[in-house]
Amino acid sequence: MKKHWYHYLWIWSLIYFGMGFFNILFAWMGLISFALPLIMAIGFGNKRFCNRYCDRGQTLRALGQLGFSRRRDMPAWMKSKAFRYGFMLFFFGMFGSVLYTTWLVYSGAESLQQVVSLLWTFHFPWEWAYSGAVSPWTAQFAFGLYSLMLTSEVIALITMLLFRPRSWCVYCPMGTLTQLICQAKAGKTQ
Ligand code: SF4
Repeated sequence: MKKHWYHYLWIWSLIYFGMGFFNILFAWMGLISFALPLIMAIGFGNKRFCNRYCDRGQTLRALGQLGFSRRRDMPAWMKSKAFRYGFMLFFFGMFGSVLYTTWLVYSGAESLQQVVSLLWTFHFPWEWAYSGAVSPWTAQFAFGLYSLMLTSEVIALITMLLFRPRSWCVYCPMGTLTQLICQAKAGKTQ
């Protein structure tokens, strides 16, 4: 297969998680991964982001090519609409909770928590990544977003190991949402 520049976008994943380890404010860059697929779906009615420009999709593809995936079929329930929509609602609910916690810190109701949470269960101290250079709510959002991105990355990697390389994409919340948007747009133009 001919290699294109976007096949190397997995490097962005490495940079993102690596930089966030040393400076949590870099986690704000994760908003790009939220905005770009939405812009492409709403603006152009396509899933070009998923097909080409998603760094996570490219990471999973590259690791699969290196033989890290068992390449088994996913269970049918993981492909069902109920699971995909349910997971999307759960995921965006968790994003809402990141925004709410940020608001609490902004309003002074809570103090900054310098932790990164994995799988919404394990909480790791991460104080070295925040120097105090910006207002606490800015850092709180970064800790929350980094936790969400890391958690979804870990789930994606586990799914890649157990099933086919890009099995995560079957129930990825952004993929499900942009698919809904594209379907709605296609329905309007028919
Ligand atoms: S489904 Fe999700 S992880 Fe997969 S390519 Fe699309 S945005 Fe990326």
